[in-house]
Amino acid sequence: MPTRVDPKICIGCGVCVAICPNSYSLVPGEDGLIVSKESETQPDTETLLKETIEDCPVGAISQISEQTHGTA
Ligand code: SF4
Repeated sequence: MPTRVDPKICIGCGVCVAICPNSYSLVPGEDGLIVSKESETQPDTETLLKETIEDCPVGAISQISEQTHGTA
């Protein structure tokens, strides 16, 4: 279940990184903010990845289809 983080919405709170440290990491954003970035491979379980979608305070994480993963 690949997910996508919208860097324009992400505020870099780190919740997703705390839940799925193998799937997300915090990196410098375009406007100086630290934002979360989804990794190419997301080895954390689907349950945990779904939790990040639900727990992101600003709704920056969404589920994407397998076909579009990594091509954006
Ligand atoms: S939980 Fe949401 S706002 Fe927080 S770092 Fe992750 S994507 Fe960004």
